Amino acid sequence: VCVRIASHEIRLQYDSAIFARTPHQVQDDRDWKQFHDPKSLAEAISIEASELLELFLWKSVADVKAAIESEPRFRRAVEEELADVFCFGLNLANVANIDVASAIVKKIESNKKKYPIEKSKGTAAKYDKL
Ligand SMILES: [Mg+2]
Repeated sequence: VCVRIASHEIRLQYDSAIFARTPHQVQDDRDWKQFHDPKSLAEAISIEASELLELFLWKSVADVKAAIESEPRFRRAVEEELADVFCFGLNLANVANIDVASAIVKKIESNKKKYPIEKSKGTAAKYDKL
């Protein structure tokens, strides 16, 4: 899947076989699937997103950018929390039988309609405030 957002090309190399198999094996080996209902996985996504935010707490925008670029331990911590968010997101997609690549493409198309270029260019305002 290849889409363009705000002039950046986003490539989603969605290998459903890998995404479907890898988390399942890890979960099967540990008997964790019993905990993976949609509500708990949505909670886990939020908690992991908060752990990502915690890394940035009290730092300036410039400090966060610099740390990601030049501090390997900080970059690795960001990478790990981001991976947690994506893993739980993929687990939720699996248990809810949602095709992630298709969902992203549909959401981007929806956002393009909600945020017409002539109204939204150069502003971060929400669609209902445009
Ligand atoms: Mg974490």
